[in-house]
Amino acid sequence: MRVGFIGLGIMGKPMCKNVLKAGYEVTVFDRNTVAVEELKNAGAKVAASGKEVGENSEVLITMLPNSPHVKSVLFDENGALEGLKEGTVVIDMSSINPVESKNIAEELAKKGVLLLDAPVSGGEPKAIDGTISVMVGGDEAVFNKYYDLMKSMSGSVVRVGGVGAGNTTKLANQIIVALNIAALSEAFILCEKADVDPQLVFEAIRGGLAGSTVMNAKAPMMMERNFDPGFRIDLHIKDLQNALDTSHAINASLPLTAQIMETLQALKMDGKGDRDHSAIVNYYEKLNNITVGKK
Ligand code: NAD
Repeated sequence: MRVGFIGLGIMGKPMCKNVLKAGYEVTVFDRNTVAVEELKNAGAKVAASGKEVGENSEVLITMLPNSPHVKSVLFDENGALEGLKEGTVVIDMSSINPVESKNIAEELAKKGVLLLDAPVSGGEPKAIDGTISVMVGGDEAVFNKYYDLMKSMSGSVVRVGGVGAGNTTKLANQIIVALNIAALSEAFILCEKADVDPQLVFEAIRGGLAGSTVMNAKAPMMMERNFDPGFRIDLHIKDLQNALDTSHAINASLPLTAQIMETLQALKMDGKGDRDHSAIVNYYEKLNNITVGKK
């Protein structure tokens, strides 16, 4: 199976390496030439444009920041759609607005190209060891045909409905993750103020009801004062903006999402948009004039 891969960033690079390891023939494109060189050394073919990737792909995977990037890569002059043939499939693994997934699917369908929206959860470490979770929207037969390809990069691949359902699921995931990190931050501030070591608190409660994958991943980063991304605050703002836009479009109200959105926005204005989202704790630290973890 000839696979195209566009978007070799924090997530796309290790995901693409796992596709190569599974034995697929892969052609890559990214404007970051350093990432492209790394994939070339791992066995990928290199294309000079999106169009060239399309020409070499039966199925094209995209892993880009947001919908404007996905549309640009697919639909611009020299973009992938110019090269893709009728009957081919785009698996967009970027996290984007589900309404945009439907728009992109309509545009691709004009040339007989099908879309699965298949965003992922898990972050860079899980992308590296191939244990991310993939949530997929789109036609069931297409999903079944490309299940093994998606599974080559992930621990679980679940179809949740038609086109757009994958990204709706991802928005739900991002709301839960952001609010979990905020709750963790607030709890650790309480511990610091009360002179109880948050590291010991973490060890005491991680196996109980409050324990979570978010806690296991983010508490150590807070303790170590390591806010290197990971998942950038700027990208989480993008996801929550998409969640709020979607909720307003379908007459839903998400008050907690709106609140954590403003926290992230304040962090961005404080110059921390490039930090990992575990830096949500920095907001609560400033509010309380105290630092969590390593002194
Ligand atoms: P990133 O910014 O590290 O990577 C994006 C890549 O796309 C870069 O290599 C960039 O050069 C490339 N790119 C952008 N525009 C391009 C264009 N026009 N042509 C060619 N290449 C182009 O982002 P990331 O962290 O890998 O995230 C990708 C997606 O996955 C986002 O939607 C993000 O929300 C989602 N996601 C990220 C994480 C995480 O922990 N980083 C976890 C789950 C989901």
